[in-house]
Amino acid sequence: MKIDLITIFPGMLDGPFRESMIKRAVDRGLVEINLVDLRSYTRDRHRQVDDTPYGGGCGMILKPEPLFDAVEDLKSKSDCEYPWVILLTPQGRRFDQQEARNLSGKKHLILICGRYEGVDERARLGLVDEEISIGDFVLTGGELAAAVVVDAVVRLLPGFISEEAAANESFSDSLLEHPHYTRPPVYRGMEVPPVLLSGNHAEIERWRRQQSVKRTYERRPDLLKKADLLPDDKSYLKDILKQQE
Ligand code: SAM
Repeated sequence: MKIDLITIFPGMLDGPFRESMIKRAVDRGLVEINLVDLRSYTRDRHRQVDDTPYGGGCGMILKPEPLFDAVEDLKSKSDCEYPWVILLTPQGRRFDQQEARNLSGKKHLILICGRYEGVDERARLGLVDEEISIGDFVLTGGELAAAVVVDAVVRLLPGFISEEAAANESFSDSLLEHPHYTRPPVYRGMEVPPVLLSGNHAEIERWRRQQSVKRTYERRPDLLKKADLLPDDKSYLKDILKQQE
């Protein structure tokens, strides 16, 4: 996979992709991540990327010309037939694990990081395939949002984590993951559930599944409506409800 990030602050994105597991994915050739400085696509002496809004009002707007030039140049150099262009914006569709999964199947992503009051509407209309928001709040720019999207997408690339780990983690089947414990068996009076020390793998799996259902019911009951619940899950849920009566 190739990912281009168009930004006026490439330095902001240097850190997240030069550390830890994303760096390892880059080093192993699973993904190529390029930071593209929008200013390098300006044609004036001042390398201006923004301008005041027509109609007045506060703030600046990212101009359309450098954005069109940047995206068209990146597309012309792409090996991929249809590079997928994403605009980070609080007005986009809310990002989730399903969308991360969809994007992990694409060959080439181009992410546009907005700034100031956002991008000129013609850039949105003429260049963008998808608009993504990472939540109902407003950031100063799209860089941190882009880092979130890239992190979630790259860790789903084949070979990044094991298929088993990806299948079990939160949201993979609309359930939150079960709790985890490691050594020591007792810490500050808190004990590891005995089943996890039993060596009985079938019982451990059963316990984990029940914990997963319970956590989802307690924290995100909205997810349960989408979950593929097994007959055992349903009877376990009934038990929880009975206990609460
Ligand atoms: N004036 C815009 C509005 O009210 O919709 C907000 C602009 S915001 C200050 C500047 C840039 O930050 C946006 O263009 C976008 O790229 C990015 N941004 C802010 N919040 C975001 C969010 N929740 N998700 C994704 N990107 C966001």
